[in-house]
Amino acid sequence: MDLKELYRDVILDHNRHPRNFGRIEAADSRADGHNPLCGDRLSVFVVLDGERVADIRFEGRGCAISTASASLMTEAVKGKDRTAIRELFDKVHALLTRPETAADGALGKLAALSGVREFPVRVKCASLCWHTLNAALEHGAATISTE
Ligand code: ZN
Repeated sequence: MDLKELYRDVILDHNRHPRNFGRIEAADSRADGHNPLCGDRLSVFVVLDGERVADIRFEGRGCAISTASASLMTEAVKGKDRTAIRELFDKVHALLTRPETAADGALGKLAALSGVREFPVRVKCASLCWHTLNAALEHGAATISTE
């Protein structure tokens, strides 16, 4: 199995069986994101323990890329603090937008998103969940649109 097939399988798996899907009623913060280009909508719910994301869930409707990306993101950020999450976001953003960026070992399964950069119109689908999480962490509650 080559890398591309592996990446495709990760995206398909997380789209069909999204991890941490659902809402958290007692969330410390939440944000709603919308990608008008594709029609993706998702909400991110966060429970904080000081600077750390103790729990995170998401819900919404979107394309396979947006759902898989949100699923992978929730797995990757749970238990991490704001600084580590910001670093991870920077790495994911570079992976999605800079063709020469090799997947960093720290990205783990998030490396599967590197396939997205062959389809520039899909980059916003993959980054929507991250922008929405940032809004939740920075503002406590927000609605964002990637346009
Ligand atoms: Zn999309």
